[in-house]
Amino acid sequence: MSPTDCEGRLRKLRAELDRRKVDALVVTHLPNVRYLCGFTGSAGVLLVARRPVFFTDGRYAEQAASQVQDARISIVRGGALPAVAATCAKLGLKRVAIESEHLTVVQLGALEQALGKGVKLVRMTGVVEALRAQKDAAEIELLRQAVQLSSRLFRPLLRSMRSGVAESAIAGKLEYMARKAGAERMSFETIVASGERSALPHGIASAQKLPAEGFVVLDYGVVLDGYCSDMTRTIHLGKASGEARMLYHAVLDAQLAAISVVRAGVTAGEVDRAARHELKRAKLDRYFTHSTGHGVGLEVHEVPRLAAGNDAVLQPGMVITIEPGVYVPGKCGIRIEDMVLVTERGYEVLTPVAKEWIELN
Ligand code: ZN
Ligand code: ZN
Repeated sequence: MSPTDCEGRLRKLRAELDRRKVDALVVTHLPNVRYLCGFTGSAGVLLVARRPVFFTDGRYAEQAASQVQDARISIVRGGALPAVAATCAKLGLKRVAIESEHLTVVQLGALEQALGKGVKLVRMTGVVEALRAQKDAAEIELLRQAVQLSSRLFRPLLRSMRSGVAESAIAGKLEYMARKAGAERMSFETIVASGERSALPHGIASAQKLPAEGFVVLDYGVVLDGYCSDMTRTIHLGKASGEARMLYHAVLDAQLAAISVVRAGVTAGEVDRAARHELKRAKLDRYFTHSTGHGVGLEVHEVPRLAAGNDAVLQPGMVITIEPGVYVPGKCGIRIEDMVLVTERGYEVLTPVAKEWIELN
Protein backbone atom coordinates (compact mmCIF):
# COMPACT_ATOMS: atom_id res chain seq x y z
CA MET A 1 0.00 0.00 0.00
CA SER A 2 1.32 3.44 -0.89
CA PRO A 3 2.01 5.83 1.98
CA THR A 4 -0.07 8.95 2.55
CA ASP A 5 0.57 11.30 -0.33
CA CYS A 6 0.57 14.61 1.57
CA GLU A 7 2.87 16.19 -0.97
CA GLY A 8 0.46 15.55 -3.85
CA ARG A 9 -2.51 16.77 -1.81
CA LEU A 10 -0.70 19.97 -0.85
CA ARG A 11 0.26 20.53 -4.48
CA LYS A 12 -3.37 20.28 -5.59
CA LEU A 13 -4.49 22.61 -2.81
CA ARG A 14 -1.72 25.08 -3.72
CA ALA A 15 -2.96 25.17 -7.32
CA GLU A 16 -6.50 25.86 -6.11
CA LEU A 17 -5.29 28.68 -3.83
CA ASP A 18 -3.35 30.21 -6.72
CA ARG A 19 -6.46 30.02 -8.87
CA ARG A 20 -8.41 31.86 -6.18
CA LYS A 21 -5.57 34.37 -5.79
CA VAL A 22 -4.87 33.88 -2.11
CA ASP A 23 -1.40 33.59 -0.57
CA ALA A 24 -2.28 31.00 2.05
CA LEU A 25 -5.02 28.97 3.73
CA VAL A 26 -5.29 28.58 7.49
CA VAL A 27 -6.47 24.98 7.94
CA THR A 28 -8.16 24.57 11.33
CA HIS A 29 -10.50 21.62 10.71
CA LEU A 30 -8.65 18.63 12.14
CA PRO A 31 -9.69 16.06 9.48
CA ASN A 32 -8.37 18.50 6.88
CA VAL A 33 -5.16 18.98 8.86
CA ARG A 34 -4.75 15.21 9.02
CA TYR A 35 -5.43 14.84 5.30
CA LEU A 36 -2.84 17.43 4.34
CA CYS A 37 0.02 16.70 6.73
CA GLY A 38 -0.71 13.43 8.56
CA PHE A 39 -1.18 14.81 12.08
CA THR A 40 -3.82 12.84 13.99
CA GLY A 41 -3.81 14.74 17.31
CA SER A 42 -6.58 16.93 18.63
CA ALA A 43 -4.90 20.36 18.55
CA GLY A 44 -3.05 21.82 15.59
CA VAL A 45 -3.33 24.33 12.76
CA LEU A 46 -1.74 24.03 9.34
CA LEU A 47 -0.82 27.18 7.47
CA VAL A 48 -0.66 26.25 3.80
CA ALA A 49 1.65 28.93 2.42
CA ARG A 50 4.44 28.40 -0.17
CA ARG A 51 6.12 26.36 2.54
CA PRO A 52 3.48 24.91 4.85
CA VAL A 53 3.90 25.36 8.60
CA PHE A 54 2.20 23.20 11.21
CA PHE A 55 1.48 24.80 14.60
CA THR A 56 0.77 22.85 17.76
CA ASP A 57 1.53 23.03 21.48
CA GLY A 58 4.02 21.21 23.68
CA ARG A 59 1.70 18.28 24.39
CA TYR A 60 1.96 17.24 20.76
CA ALA A 61 5.65 17.96 20.09
CA GLU A 62 6.61 14.31 19.94
CA GLN A 63 3.55 13.18 18.00
CA ALA A 64 3.97 15.99 15.48
CA ALA A 65 7.64 15.13 14.96
CA SER A 66 6.75 11.54 14.13
CA GLN A 67 3.64 12.20 12.01
CA VAL A 68 3.81 15.52 10.21
CA GLN A 69 4.94 15.33 6.60
CA ASP A 70 5.81 18.09 4.15
CA ALA A 71 5.45 20.94 6.67
CA ARG A 72 7.74 22.73 9.10
CA ILE A 73 6.68 22.19 12.73
CA SER A 74 6.28 25.11 15.10
CA ILE A 75 5.61 24.40 18.79
CA VAL A 76 3.80 27.39 20.26
CA ARG A 77 2.59 28.70 23.59
CA GLY A 78 -0.57 30.72 24.03
CA GLY A 79 -2.61 29.49 21.10
CA ALA A 80 -1.82 28.59 17.51
CA LEU A 81 -3.73 31.42 15.80
CA PRO A 82 -1.58 34.32 17.11
CA ALA A 83 1.47 32.34 15.96
CA VAL A 84 -0.16 31.78 12.56
CA ALA A 85 -0.76 35.54 12.31
CA ALA A 86 2.86 36.31 13.24
CA THR A 87 4.08 33.92 10.54
CA CYS A 88 1.78 35.48 7.95
CA ALA A 89 3.21 38.90 8.83
CA LYS A 90 6.79 37.62 8.65
CA LEU A 91 6.16 36.09 5.23
CA GLY A 92 4.54 39.32 4.02
CA LEU A 93 1.28 37.57 3.04
CA LYS A 94 -1.49 39.88 1.82
CA ARG A 95 -4.49 37.64 1.25
CA VAL A 96 -5.01 34.82 3.74
CA ALA A 97 -7.97 32.44 3.49
CA ILE A 98 -9.77 30.74 6.36
CA GLU A 99 -12.08 27.74 6.50
CA SER A 100 -15.04 29.88 7.47
CA GLU A 101 -17.38 26.98 8.26
CA HIS A 102 -14.93 25.63 10.83
CA LEU A 103 -13.73 28.79 12.60
CA THR A 104 -15.62 30.07 15.64
CA VAL A 105 -16.50 33.75 15.97
CA VAL A 106 -13.97 34.03 18.80
CA GLN A 107 -11.22 32.44 16.69
CA LEU A 108 -12.02 34.72 13.77
CA GLY A 109 -11.85 37.78 16.04
CA ALA A 110 -8.51 36.68 17.49
CA LEU A 111 -7.07 36.03 14.06
CA GLU A 112 -8.29 39.37 12.64
CA GLN A 113 -6.86 41.24 15.56
CA ALA A 114 -3.51 39.48 15.41
CA LEU A 115 -3.20 39.93 11.66
CA GLY A 116 -3.85 43.67 11.70
CA LYS A 117 -5.07 45.86 8.87
CA GLY A 118 -2.49 45.01 6.24
CA VAL A 119 -3.80 41.48 5.64
CA LYS A 120 -7.10 40.65 3.96
CA LEU A 121 -8.91 37.62 5.38
CA VAL A 122 -10.71 35.71 2.65
CA ARG A 123 -13.61 33.51 3.73
CA MET A 124 -13.62 30.17 1.97
CA THR A 125 -15.67 27.02 2.47
CA GLY A 126 -15.16 23.42 1.42
CA VAL A 127 -11.82 23.82 -0.38
CA VAL A 128 -10.02 20.90 1.27
CA GLU A 129 -13.27 18.92 1.51
CA ALA A 130 -13.62 19.10 -2.28
CA LEU A 131 -10.14 17.58 -2.67
CA ARG A 132 -10.95 14.89 -0.12
CA ALA A 133 -14.04 13.75 -2.04
CA GLN A 134 -11.94 11.77 -4.53
CA LYS A 135 -10.07 9.08 -2.66
CA ASP A 136 -6.64 7.79 -3.72
CA ALA A 137 -5.74 4.10 -3.83
CA ALA A 138 -4.41 4.07 -0.26
CA GLU A 139 -7.56 5.69 1.08
CA ILE A 140 -9.81 3.28 -0.82
CA GLU A 141 -7.90 0.39 0.72
CA LEU A 142 -8.38 1.85 4.23
CA LEU A 143 -12.09 2.37 3.60
CA ARG A 144 -12.37 -1.19 2.33
CA GLN A 145 -10.82 -2.48 5.55
CA ALA A 146 -13.16 -0.37 7.70
CA VAL A 147 -16.19 -1.65 5.75
CA GLN A 148 -15.01 -5.24 6.06
CA LEU A 149 -14.44 -4.97 9.79
CA SER A 150 -17.93 -3.57 10.42
CA SER A 151 -19.54 -6.07 8.05
CA ARG A 152 -18.03 -9.02 9.91
CA LEU A 153 -19.91 -7.96 13.05
CA PHE A 154 -23.38 -8.09 11.52
CA ARG A 155 -24.07 -11.84 11.52
CA PRO A 156 -22.75 -12.47 15.06
CA LEU A 157 -24.85 -9.53 16.30
CA LEU A 158 -28.04 -11.09 14.95
CA ARG A 159 -27.73 -13.76 17.65
CA SER A 160 -28.41 -11.07 20.28
CA MET A 161 -31.46 -9.65 18.53
CA ARG A 162 -34.31 -11.01 20.62
CA SER A 163 -37.54 -9.62 21.96
CA GLY A 164 -36.95 -8.06 25.40
CA VAL A 165 -33.30 -7.11 24.88
CA ALA A 166 -32.71 -3.34 25.17
CA GLU A 167 -31.59 -1.43 22.07
CA SER A 168 -28.70 -0.05 24.15
CA ALA A 169 -27.58 -3.62 24.97
CA ILE A 170 -27.47 -4.43 21.25
CA ALA A 171 -25.42 -1.27 20.62
CA GLY A 172 -23.12 -2.12 23.52
CA LYS A 173 -22.52 -5.63 22.24
CA LEU A 174 -21.80 -4.32 18.75
CA GLU A 175 -19.41 -1.66 20.01
CA TYR A 176 -17.57 -4.12 22.21
CA MET A 177 -17.13 -6.51 19.28
CA ALA A 178 -15.93 -3.62 17.12
CA ARG A 179 -13.29 -2.55 19.65
CA LYS A 180 -12.17 -6.13 20.17
CA ALA A 181 -11.74 -6.44 16.41
CA GLY A 182 -9.47 -3.38 16.37
CA ALA A 183 -11.77 -0.43 15.64
CA GLU A 184 -10.52 2.90 17.00
CA ARG A 185 -14.08 3.94 17.75
CA MET A 186 -17.52 3.97 16.17
CA SER A 187 -17.86 6.50 13.37
CA PHE A 188 -21.09 7.89 14.86
CA GLU A 189 -23.54 7.02 17.63
CA THR A 190 -24.93 3.59 16.86
CA ILE A 191 -28.53 3.56 15.70
CA VAL A 192 -30.70 0.69 16.94
CA ALA A 193 -34.29 1.70 16.29
CA SER A 194 -36.90 -0.96 16.95
CA GLY A 195 -40.67 -1.23 16.63
CA GLU A 196 -42.29 2.22 16.33
CA ARG A 197 -38.90 3.85 16.86
CA SER A 198 -37.76 2.44 13.51
CA ALA A 199 -39.78 5.32 12.01
CA LEU A 200 -37.14 7.71 13.43
CA PRO A 201 -34.40 8.03 10.78
CA HIS A 202 -31.92 8.88 13.55
CA GLY A 203 -33.14 6.61 16.34
CA ILE A 204 -30.01 6.34 18.46
CA ALA A 205 -30.10 3.18 20.60
CA SER A 206 -32.33 3.80 23.62
CA ALA A 207 -33.39 1.85 26.70
CA GLN A 208 -36.40 0.53 24.79
CA LYS A 209 -36.62 -3.23 24.59
CA LEU A 210 -36.90 -4.97 21.25
CA PRO A 211 -40.53 -5.90 20.56
CA ALA A 212 -41.87 -9.37 19.85
CA GLU A 213 -42.87 -8.23 16.39
CA GLY A 214 -41.54 -5.41 14.26
CA PHE A 215 -38.60 -3.96 12.40
CA VAL A 216 -35.19 -3.18 13.85
CA VAL A 217 -33.04 -0.66 11.96
CA LEU A 218 -29.35 -1.08 12.68
CA ASP A 219 -27.12 1.73 11.37
CA TYR A 220 -23.49 1.76 12.46
CA GLY A 221 -19.92 2.20 11.40
CA VAL A 222 -16.37 1.93 12.68
CA VAL A 223 -13.24 4.01 12.37
CA LEU A 224 -10.11 2.16 11.33
CA ASP A 225 -6.88 4.08 10.69
CA GLY A 226 -8.93 7.26 10.65
CA TYR A 227 -11.33 6.09 7.94
CA CYS A 228 -15.04 5.60 8.58
CA SER A 229 -17.50 2.94 7.55
CA ASP A 230 -21.27 3.37 7.52
CA MET A 231 -23.89 0.69 6.88
CA THR A 232 -27.54 0.00 7.64
CA ARG A 233 -29.53 -3.19 7.65
CA THR A 234 -33.15 -3.63 8.70
CA ILE A 235 -34.39 -6.93 10.04
CA HIS A 236 -37.81 -8.10 11.18
CA LEU A 237 -38.49 -9.74 14.54
CA GLY A 238 -41.41 -12.16 14.66
CA LYS A 239 -43.83 -12.96 11.89
CA ALA A 240 -44.13 -10.15 9.37
CA SER A 241 -47.28 -8.95 7.65
CA GLY A 242 -47.50 -8.82 3.87
CA GLU A 243 -47.36 -5.05 4.11
CA ALA A 244 -44.10 -5.12 6.07
CA ARG A 245 -42.51 -7.30 3.39
CA MET A 246 -43.83 -5.02 0.66
CA LEU A 247 -42.31 -1.96 2.35
CA TYR A 248 -38.97 -3.71 2.77
CA HIS A 249 -38.78 -4.75 -0.85
CA ALA A 250 -39.77 -1.28 -2.05
CA VAL A 251 -36.81 0.17 -0.13
CA LEU A 252 -34.49 -2.55 -1.43
CA ASP A 253 -35.64 -1.89 -5.01
CA ALA A 254 -35.01 1.83 -4.52
CA GLN A 255 -31.55 1.14 -3.13
CA LEU A 256 -30.66 -1.17 -6.03
CA ALA A 257 -32.05 1.33 -8.55
CA ALA A 258 -29.91 4.13 -7.11
CA ILE A 259 -26.78 1.94 -7.07
CA SER A 260 -27.36 0.92 -10.68
CA VAL A 261 -27.02 4.49 -12.00
CA VAL A 262 -23.75 5.20 -10.15
CA ARG A 263 -20.78 5.91 -12.38
CA ALA A 264 -18.32 8.73 -13.02
CA GLY A 265 -20.04 11.56 -14.86
CA VAL A 266 -23.57 11.29 -13.44
CA THR A 267 -24.69 13.91 -10.93
CA ALA A 268 -25.41 13.30 -7.26
CA GLY A 269 -28.96 14.46 -7.95
CA GLU A 270 -29.48 11.79 -10.61
CA VAL A 271 -28.62 9.04 -8.12
CA ASP A 272 -31.06 10.53 -5.63
CA ARG A 273 -33.72 10.73 -8.33
CA ALA A 274 -33.35 7.03 -9.19
CA ALA A 275 -34.13 6.04 -5.59
CA ARG A 276 -37.01 8.51 -5.31
CA HIS A 277 -38.48 7.43 -8.63
CA GLU A 278 -38.60 3.80 -7.52
CA LEU A 279 -40.34 4.73 -4.25
CA LYS A 280 -42.78 6.91 -6.15
CA ARG A 281 -43.84 3.92 -8.22
CA ALA A 282 -44.66 2.14 -4.95
CA LYS A 283 -46.46 5.32 -3.77
CA LEU A 284 -44.04 5.59 -0.87
CA ASP A 285 -41.95 8.61 -1.89
CA ARG A 286 -43.57 10.88 0.69
CA TYR A 287 -42.17 8.61 3.40
CA PHE A 288 -38.61 9.02 2.14
CA THR A 289 -37.65 12.11 4.09
CA HIS A 290 -33.88 12.42 3.75
CA SER A 291 -31.29 12.43 0.99
CA THR A 292 -30.11 9.23 -0.68
CA GLY A 293 -26.54 9.28 0.59
CA HIS A 294 -23.28 11.08 1.23
CA GLY A 295 -19.56 10.85 0.73
CA VAL A 296 -17.61 9.02 3.43
CA GLY A 297 -13.91 9.04 4.33
CA LEU A 298 -12.02 10.61 7.23
CA GLU A 299 -15.43 11.87 8.31
CA VAL A 300 -18.65 9.92 8.15
CA HIS A 301 -20.52 12.68 6.32
CA GLU A 302 -18.57 14.21 3.47
CA VAL A 303 -19.33 15.70 0.09
CA PRO A 304 -20.96 14.95 -2.24
CA ARG A 305 -24.43 14.93 -0.75
CA LEU A 306 -26.68 12.71 -2.85
CA ALA A 307 -29.66 15.00 -2.65
CA ALA A 308 -32.41 16.19 -4.99
CA GLY A 309 -31.10 18.74 -7.45
CA ASN A 310 -27.43 18.50 -6.43
CA ASP A 311 -25.52 18.86 -9.71
CA ALA A 312 -22.16 17.81 -8.24
CA VAL A 313 -20.69 15.30 -10.70
CA LEU A 314 -19.54 11.90 -9.43
CA GLN A 315 -15.82 11.29 -10.02
CA PRO A 316 -13.90 8.00 -10.04
CA GLY A 317 -12.53 7.32 -6.57
CA MET A 318 -15.43 8.88 -4.72
CA VAL A 319 -16.82 6.64 -1.98
CA ILE A 320 -20.48 7.30 -1.22
CA THR A 321 -23.31 5.72 0.68
CA ILE A 322 -26.62 4.74 -0.90
CA GLU A 323 -29.26 4.64 1.81
CA PRO A 324 -32.88 5.24 0.90
CA GLY A 325 -35.49 4.62 3.58
CA VAL A 326 -39.19 4.66 4.22
CA TYR A 327 -40.56 5.95 7.54
CA VAL A 328 -44.24 5.63 8.35
CA PRO A 329 -44.76 7.89 11.41
CA GLY A 330 -45.83 6.08 14.55
CA LYS A 331 -45.63 2.76 12.77
CA CYS A 332 -42.37 1.55 11.28
CA GLY A 333 -39.33 2.37 9.24
CA ILE A 334 -36.85 0.64 6.96
CA ARG A 335 -33.45 1.74 5.65
CA ILE A 336 -30.80 -0.16 3.70
CA GLU A 337 -27.33 1.38 3.30
CA ASP A 338 -24.18 0.30 1.50
CA MET A 339 -20.91 2.02 0.76
CA VAL A 340 -20.20 2.27 -2.95
CA LEU A 341 -17.01 3.13 -4.82
CA VAL A 342 -17.51 5.22 -7.96
CA THR A 343 -15.50 3.91 -10.88
CA GLU A 344 -14.91 5.17 -14.40
CA ARG A 345 -17.49 2.80 -15.87
CA GLY A 346 -19.78 2.15 -12.94
CA TYR A 347 -19.46 1.20 -9.33
CA GLU A 348 -18.29 -1.34 -6.82
CA VAL A 349 -20.44 -2.08 -3.77
CA LEU A 350 -17.96 -2.24 -0.88
CA THR A 351 -20.35 -3.61 1.75
CA PRO A 352 -20.39 -7.42 1.45
CA VAL A 353 -23.40 -8.06 3.72
CA ALA A 354 -26.42 -9.58 1.94
CA LYS A 355 -29.62 -7.57 1.78
CA GLU A 356 -32.25 -10.27 1.53
CA TRP A 357 -35.20 -10.23 3.91
CA ILE A 358 -34.23 -11.38 7.42
CA GLU A 359 -36.96 -12.54 9.78
CA LEU A 360 -35.91 -13.71 13.24
CA ASN A 361 -38.45 -15.82 15.04
ZN1 ZN B 1 -25.58 5.04 8.23
ZN1 ZN C 1 -24.92 7.17 6.00
